[in-house]
Amino acid sequence: MKTLTGIVPICASCKMIRDDKGYWEQVEEYVGKHTEAQFSHGICPDCMERLYPA
Ligand SMILES: [Zn+2]
Repeated sequence: MKTLTGIVPICASCKMIRDDKGYWEQVEEYVGKHTEAQFSHGICPDCMERLYPA
């Protein structure tokens, strides 16, 4: 099993997580794959556009 340690970016708005490949996925799905990770709250590109339109 792959174990991820370190800081993981999580979107504070929709709870999507960006994995090590730069792909955003749902937190439940992510935690199922990675047992150890610390979350760093941020905003994913989708919510960034929705919440802070340019
Ligand atoms: Zn988001």
